[in-house]
Amino acid sequence: MSNLNLKENWFTIILIVLVAVSCGLLIGKFLRPKGSDLIPEEQTNTPKQKKLLPQSPQTTYLNVSEKDILFPKVGGTKNLLITTDGAEWHVSNCQNWLTYSLNGNELSLQCDNNSTLNERSGYVIIESGDMASSVFVKQSQWATRLEISTTNLQVPISGGTYRITVNTDADDYKVDTWDPCSVEKFSDYFTITVNENAGYGQYFNVYVNVTTNLNLKKTIKIHQKGKCRTCRGTGSIKCSNTFCEFGHTLEYNAFTGYNEYVICPTCRGKGSVECPSCRGSGKEQ
Ligand SMILES: [Zn+2]
Ligand SMILES: [Zn+2]
Repeated sequence: MSNLNLKENWFTIILIVLVAVSCGLLIGKFLRPKGSDLIPEEQTNTPKQKKLLPQSPQTTYLNVSEKDILFPKVGGTKNLLITTDGAEWHVSNCQNWLTYSLNGNELSLQCDNNSTLNERSGYVIIESGDMASSVFVKQSQWATRLEISTTNLQVPISGGTYRITVNTDADDYKVDTWDPCSVEKFSDYFTITVNENAGYGQYFNVYVNVTTNLNLKKTIKIHQKGKCRTCRGTGSIKCSNTFCEFGHTLEYNAFTGYNEYVICPTCRGKGSVECPSCRGSGKEQ
């Protein structure tokens, strides 16, 4: 009986010890701080050991005065201020439509004219040591200026040729017109030639615009004189004397007792008088 009791007691003791050991292991596992498995690895690879190697002083800051630049279609130059404690700085990436030059702590960006008909953009990267800074550069494709030397032309009946200068930041411009005149285009001016006018006075327009910005549009209003509308270009109008017929009027002759044709005193026999509108020229004044 005592043997059995002893056996049972040993068994209980072993069981208790086993439970206690496994509990201790579990508690130890859960009480360990999170991520602590990584601690030994970090400690074996400390970055401080790297910094002990001999090398030039590290760059701790690298600032550029502007982060966003917008160039107009024609391009231009932009100067940026670079502030850094690095021993040197340089440009590691630049768009092919930009050129740059370094001068002390200044970075100068020169942008070409944009003839691509599309907006373009990209990053310019500045580096110093392990640090890098970027500048976003964008360039518009839209023209912004269209000026012409004349928007109003008074053309005589005989016609003429007129030179109109064009001032625009677009690469090209268009001139729209039709019959009464012809246009010859050159790089910074065009000519309008108006033919002689055999008809009445006329009004017409010539339109100038640029394809890279249809909102930029100019109109040249042209007035060409023509025939006088009062006399239809003849220079004379019918005699204003209402009794006049072909330059003569009927008058009673007391001696003969008959009505007789006499020369009209108003037109002196011509039947017509000088047109008051054009003073006889037949042309619009
Ligand atoms: Zn008359
Ligand atoms: Zn007239």
